[in-house]
Amino acid sequence: MDTGSDHPETLARRHKCPACFKQFKRKEHLIEHLKVSYHSVHQPKCGVCQKHCKTYESLHEHLTGPLRKACCSKIFSDLGCSLCFKIFDNPNSLTKHKEGCCLSAPAPSGIAMRCAESQEKISGVVVKNHTGRGHGAVAMDCEMVSGGDNGSLNLCARVCLIDEDENIIFHTHVRPQFPITNYRYDVTGLTEEHLKDAMALNEVRDKILQILYNGESVEKLRLDGGKARLLVGHDLEHDLDCLRMNYPEHMLRDTAKYCPLMKTNLVSHSLKYLTRTYLGYDIQSGVHDPYEDCVAVMRLYKRFSCQLDHVEEIGTQNITGGLESYMSKELMKMSPSELYAMSRSNYRCWCLDSRKIMQP
Ligand SMILES: [Zn+2]
Ligand SMILES: [Zn+2]
Ligand SMILES: [Zn+2]
Ligand SMILES: [Zn+2]
Repeated sequence: MDTGSDHPETLARRHKCPACFKQFKRKEHLIEHLKVSYHSVHQPKCGVCQKHCKTYESLHEHLTGPLRKACCSKIFSDLGCSLCFKIFDNPNSLTKHKEGCCLSAPAPSGIAMRCAESQEKISGVVVKNHTGRGHGAVAMDCEMVSGGDNGSLNLCARVCLIDEDENIIFHTHVRPQFPITNYRYDVTGLTEEHLKDAMALNEVRDKILQILYNGESVEKLRLDGGKARLLVGHDLEHDLDCLRMNYPEHMLRDTAKYCPLMKTNLVSHSLKYLTRTYLGYDIQSGVHDPYEDCVAVMRLYKRFSCQLDHVEEIGTQNITGGLESYMSKELMKMSPSELYAMSRSNYRCWCLDSRKIMQP
């Protein structure tokens, strides 16, 4: 018996998702799809066909993978930037763009030299004097060594904080609170000598909090956002853990947890991979320099938070409770593009930071 499912007329009446172009036989399946896809202007988009992708990795596949879309792939290979996926009008402007888009590794920290303001140097500790209040985001990275009875504890041994201009705000070795079982020398480059007279963990934590809160209280931050600064890092939970420190979730910008930068199955990429893929240079080839990691996360944050085309489009976006706030009867009456217009992303896009919206 002919069920009619493959009949050309039925195909023509398929319901197409205006964002990712998937097709559905039934309207309710499209609605269901839109509810779980959280399409929005914030999703990574193909500059040629405007298809929405969940992650930059899936956009990359759409443009260069084995199942790439031929016409998009052709235009992209001629006029697209392989790091930021922007498409240009002509080869000249692409070449010009690439000069600024493809970055090179920062010079090794040589820690003390990069501090922008006057500094004091106390047994390997470099602290920028906070005469005025800092602004903008702060990137942080910790290096850890193993300790505890069975060596299973991650102990913070070194920490570095930089500002948006890649100046070091604070850098120090940290005195271990437990006996160290492994200095992980190949990765950390640290020995007993570096840590024995270093700053104590609670002192380090106080200093970091003072920088992040700009001297204001936690209460003030909770009430009105205060003057606290965004904290950028890679897998910050891990770093905050080893510092025995808390910082409000909505103030964290984590390159390991940001949906567009994750694998399509929402597993984190390594910072090494993200830096190679989206900034165009290699890090962590020998001993880890926390300054180098700080610079990489800050550059990633800045690159993906100034997607200006997002910001412009947001103004026209419907401010609604999203698709969930409608009855299914109402949704069935709407066109696919009306449904898409109400769909909202399920993560806080970094581009919103540039509009200084800091909703908890
Ligand atoms: Zn879709
Ligand atoms: Zn956005
Ligand atoms: Zn495309
Ligand atoms: Zn680019």
